Amino acid sequence: MLKVYICPSCGWLRTVSRRKTVECHHCGGTSMELTKLAYEDYAAMSETERADYAKSWKYIHNRTHKIQDSCD
Ligand SMILES: [Zn+2]
Repeated sequence: MLKVYICPSCGWLRTVSRRKTVECHHCGGTSMELTKLAYEDYAAMSETERADYAKSWKYIHNRTHKIQDSCD
């Protein structure tokens, strides 16, 4: 079963099957994190949608931006 991982540093998405440690090849070994994205959904996404997903993921996980009151 394939799982989708994301690089917290550059936002690169990658599908992986049964691996404990996943490293980003773009950032020279940064540990990637598991997303909640199902492989089927990932596969159906366009490049633009994937980029948007990565952007949102990084936004949520980094929290470097000022948090605004629930107005999305
Ligand atoms: Zn990376």
